[in-house]
Amino acid sequence: MSIVENLNKVKKSIPKNVSLVAVSKFHPVEAITEAYNAGQRIFGESKMQELTAKQPALPKDIEWHFIGHLQRNKVKSIIPIVHTIHSVDSERLFEEIIKEAEKQKKQMRCFLQIHIAQETTKYGLTLNECENILSKYVANNNNSAYIGGLMGMATNSDDENLIKQEFASMKKIFDTLKEKYLKNDSRFSELSMGMSSDYPLAIEEGSTMIRVGSTIFGNRSY
Ligand SMILES: *Cc1c(COP(=O)(O)O)cnc(C)c1O
Repeated sequence: MSIVENLNKVKKSIPKNVSLVAVSKFHPVEAITEAYNAGQRIFGESKMQELTAKQPALPKDIEWHFIGHLQRNKVKSIIPIVHTIHSVDSERLFEEIIKEAEKQKKQMRCFLQIHIAQETTKYGLTLNECENILSKYVANNNNSAYIGGLMGMATNSDDENLIKQEFASMKKIFDTLKEKYLKNDSRFSELSMGMSSDYPLAIEEGSTMIRVGSTIFGNRSY
C-alpha cells in the first residue's frame, strides 16, 4: 500500500476529535510531501538534526511537533520551527523553553512527558514531578511557554491489558493535574498517547492525539 492509502486508512479509523501526528522520522522529504499532498499537516520528528535538515525543504504551513528527547542547548534553535514540544521531561528543560520563548516572543505549546511504561529507558516524569512543575509555573501563566497537555508511551508489549492499564493511568494523571492546577486553563486539553501498535487502545482510554509513524510511512531502517 502507498503512503496515501495508509494515511487515509488511519484517518478513517479514528474519531474526528482525535488528531493525528504523522511521525516522519527516518523518512525522506519525498515521503512527507506525499502525505502533505494528501492533506496531512501535522508531522512529528524526534531528532533536532533531522528536523532542521528537512524543514526548510517543506511547505511552511506544516505544523511540526517535536516528540524526541530534547537537549537544553537545542531549545533556542527549535523554538522558531516547532508548533508543539511533546517531550518536556524535566523542570530544567521547561525553564529553558520559557526563557527562550520569552526572548523570541513565541507562545510555545509544551506537553509534559509522563513515564508510564515499564521500560526504564524511556524518558518521562512522575506525577509528583509534574506537580512540582505545575505548582511553580501555573501561578504565573503569563509565561510564553505553557503546558497544553501530556504525552506518554506505553510499554512495548503484546499484553493488551498492561497497555490499557498504562493508558488509563495516563488519563487519570491528566484528570488529576487538570483538576488541581489547570481547571481554568482551556489550553491544557491534549493527551498525546498511542502509536502504530497501540493507538486504538489509547483512543479507548481517552487519547486526543496519536503519533503514528510506521503504519503510515512503512518500517524505518535503523
Ligand atoms: C517513533 C515514535 C512514534 C511513532 O512510532 P510508530 O511505532 O512508528 O508509530 C511515536 N511517538 C514517539 C515518541 C516516537 O519516538
